[in-house]
Amino acid sequence: MVRKIYVTYNDVHKLCQESAPYILDNFKPHLMIAIGGGGFIPARILRSFLKTPGSPNIPIQAIGLSLYEKLPSKTTNGSSSSSANGAVEEEEHDDVVEEAGTQVTRTQWLDMSALGELSNLVGKKVLIVDEVDDTRTTLEYAVRELEKDVEEARAKMGSEAKTEFSIFVLHNKDKPKKGHLPDDILNGRYLAARTVGDEWICYPWEAGDIDQHDKMAEEAKKEQV
Ligand code: 5GP
Repeated sequence: MVRKIYVTYNDVHKLCQESAPYILDNFKPHLMIAIGGGGFIPARILRSFLKTPGSPNIPIQAIGLSLYEKLPSKTTNGSSSSSANGAVEEEEHDDVVEEAGTQVTRTQWLDMSALGELSNLVGKKVLIVDEVDDTRTTLEYAVRELEKDVEEARAKMGSEAKTEFSIFVLHNKDKPKKGHLPDDILNGRYLAARTVGDEWICYPWEAGDIDQHDKMAEEAKKEQV
C-alpha cells in the first residue's frame, strides 16, 4: 500500500512564496542551481519572490541527476481514500510509482558557456533547489560534485574566496537518510518548506490528468479540516 500526497501547482507556488523571505535573509543567493526535473519549477517560482527592487533576477543554472526509475508497482483495484494528514491511501491498482535506484546518474551538468567559467562560482552564494529530499542521495551527490568542481576552480585561480552552498526543497521526508550533507549546510543553510512522513508525493508536473490530480488534493484537504 502506497500512501500518496497530492501537491498542486498552487501549493508549490505558495511554498516557494512563503520560503523566499527566509532564503533572502539567511542564504542571500547570487545564483540558483536547480536539480532537474523536479527542481526546475520551484526554482523558477522562487526567482520571482527572491527578486529585490533595483537588482536583476537571480540566474538559474540547471543540472540533471537521476536516481529513480519508473517501475510498475504492486497494486489492486484503483480505489483510494484520504487520511487525516492529507495523504491518500491508494488501494492497489495498475499504477506506476518510482522506485529508488542505487546510483545517481548525471544527465546534465553546468552549462559552462552560459556561466563563463566555473571560476564564476568561486566566492558566490549558491542555492541548490530540488523538489524533495527523500534518501538524500541526490543532494549529497550534487553538493559533493559541485564542491569538487569549485575547489578545482579555486585552486587554479589561487583564490581564497569560499563558495557557500545552501539548499531549498519543497518537501523533506522525515526518515533515516542514506546521503549526508556537510554540517554547515545541514545546520544553517538548509530549508525544507514542509517536512512530511515517508509517503510518495505526487507533484502536479507529473500528473497524467491534472484535473483528477487537483481533485485528489482537494479531497485530502477537506479530510484534514
Ligand atoms: P533522494 O536522492 O533524496 O532519494 O531522491 C531525490 C529524487 O527522487 C527527487 O529529486 C525526486 O525526483 C525523486 N523522489 C523521491 N521521493 C519522491 C516522491 O515522493 N515523489 C516524487 N515525485 N519524486 C520523488
